[in-house]
Amino acid sequence: MIIILIGAPGSGKGTQSAVLCRRFGFTHLSTGDILRAEIAGKTAIGLKAAEYVNNGKLVPDHIVTEMVAMKLEDPKGGRYLFDGFPRNLEQAQTLSGALAKQSASIDLVLFLELSHDEAMRRLTSRRLCGACGEVFNVMTRPSKKEGACDKCGGALVQREDDSEATARKRLMVYEDLTRPLVSFYKAEQVLHEVDAGRAPEAVTENLAEIIQPLLAARQ
Ligand code: AMP
Repeated sequence: MIIILIGAPGSGKGTQSAVLCRRFGFTHLSTGDILRAEIAGKTAIGLKAAEYVNNGKLVPDHIVTEMVAMKLEDPKGGRYLFDGFPRNLEQAQTLSGALAKQSASIDLVLFLELSHDEAMRRLTSRRLCGACGEVFNVMTRPSKKEGACDKCGGALVQREDDSEATARKRLMVYEDLTRPLVSFYKAEQVLHEVDAGRAPEAVTENLAEIIQPLLAARQ
């Protein structure tokens, strides 16, 4: 089973993925998380990707699609939640082709709709723990002690690409390259649109309502 989350940077894909994976036992496949880990580990992929990620640009398709192929062991039997992939039409077509070869297909595409103004507000106020990765927000989810993680006490940092200038660039890249996927998946009749401007719990319940019938039909 393959479910894809699409949405602007800041629309809550990472937050919602974490909750849905816990609740439904999906394997979380976040290309952003994988790339950040590669960059932190200074691997060959990380060294190539850093310049793109830190400047708000998309990493070249061949790097990302290869990375995904390595993680996708059992597209038919497994339950995968893709977060941040595909990010453009080329990636979407590559994914569909690769799945078709294994007689698998995309079951659901969940589109988290959010205004760019709200996305900017969320991105520039986001902080994360440098040690464990827990996500906070100085406006909506501040840590109990300023600058320190509630979970492990690690120092909170701002993602380099969450600076105002880079966040703006990422939203432009999203509009130009990723947003066209909405029409692409609408035409494939797998797209569901969800209002991501609400509280995270309300968005989760909405997403769960869409996912549950699919899981029930598979049992
Ligand atoms: P995210 O955490 O999903 O916001 O991704 C952070 C950054 O990682 C993006 O701004 C891109 O530079 C890179 N990235 C993540 N996913 C992809 C992808 N599917 N294709 C190309 N670049 C990606």
